[in-house]
Amino acid sequence: MVKKRVDVLVLNSNETITLDSLDNENGLGIIDHGGVAIKQGRIVLAASTDLLERKFRAGRTIDVENEIILPGFVDPHTHLVFAGAREAEFQLRIAGASYMEILRKGGGIIETVNRTRQASPESLFQFGKQRLDTCLESGSTTVEIKSGYGLREDDELKILRTVQRLRKYHPCNIVPTFMGAHAVPPGETSSKYVQSVIDEMLPGVAQAGLAEFCDVFCEQGVFDSIESEMILRKAARLGLRLKIHADQFTDCGGAEVSNKLRATSADHLVHSSAEQLGHMTKTGVTPVLLPSSSHSLMTKENADAQGMLGMGLPVALGTDFSPSNWMLGQLTVAALASRDLRMNASEIIRGITINAARALGLEKRIGSLHRGKQADLVTLRAPSHRWIGYTYGERMVDNVLIGGEQVVRDGRRIS
Ligand code: ZN
Repeated sequence: MVKKRVDVLVLNSNETITLDSLDNENGLGIIDHGGVAIKQGRIVLAASTDLLERKFRAGRTIDVENEIILPGFVDPHTHLVFAGAREAEFQLRIAGASYMEILRKGGGIIETVNRTRQASPESLFQFGKQRLDTCLESGSTTVEIKSGYGLREDDELKILRTVQRLRKYHPCNIVPTFMGAHAVPPGETSSKYVQSVIDEMLPGVAQAGLAEFCDVFCEQGVFDSIESEMILRKAARLGLRLKIHADQFTDCGGAEVSNKLRATSADHLVHSSAEQLGHMTKTGVTPVLLPSSSHSLMTKENADAQGMLGMGLPVALGTDFSPSNWMLGQLTVAALASRDLRMNASEIIRGITINAARALGLEKRIGSLHRGKQADLVTLRAPSHRWIGYTYGERMVDNVLIGGEQVVRDGRRIS
């Protein structure tokens, strides 16, 4: 047989988890002793190492003996571009103060807003770059980033332009989200601020093409469901897709808004009713669960992941990285999802790959090792996929490829 030429062969894994078959164990599409052939940045074939060696010759071979291959992780929810940290506030939380108490006293997010407004674009870029490198070295190949620490037009645009610059210079795939409605700025009423988001910020963001999604923090004491709906309707008219921080602390109608507007995702969902979650099976809203957020806030309250999975919803997982939840790795989220949400390894793997891609509307391009998809993949030093969620704190990530280019080797960024 004449061997076809490809650019890269990744061979000899213990397991290659393709997420490309529903007839395999728990829908993971596992190939034992498998690998992946890549050409021009795309997946040509995921198959057994034997078959790949018979069919292809490659310019480059990556041997991943004693490792597993997965699609690159997708983090569908971060607040990654901001200045400063809030380690002092975290000590108050340990002592028992709640997120909302701290916010009412002008701390919390408002402190980060002040620091971010003062920060230069270059310093925001450098912070963003360092954090994205950590994401990459933790196996994430696609990262969503929200604005929301400017809370006035110039500063929201400054953050989104930083995200665009990161998009240009960083190998991670980056999805930008405008979240001007993250908090009410000090000294303003929410109704006045909502009008400025709708009349000034959103048209400016859309016209400059700086965001793909619009998100709103729908919560008691922040933006109610009517305000959230107004903002998201305007965003949809301007061509943005929709996300919503829904029902994190109270059932305030966030999930209902997501269903009504057929948002791409609804995130948090800690207090959403079973009725609204059930509707998501028809409206196509992807639930994004953020167990590290509940963990950092020490609320001991978590979304009903098992209920959602039982309904057949494609549950996605994200980090919710922010100054109040300083956590960047999806493998750490996996460890929390197993313990706090009682998700098994297969559910978690889908949650950080194909379902997370769905939460960004990217499930046709990334999230599985399907032929023709972008060749984003990660190799982990693990005997089997069941190590995901089981171990944490291990240096499991070895190689990361994005679009067929190796960007991480031995757990460190190389390009
Ligand atoms: Zn968030």
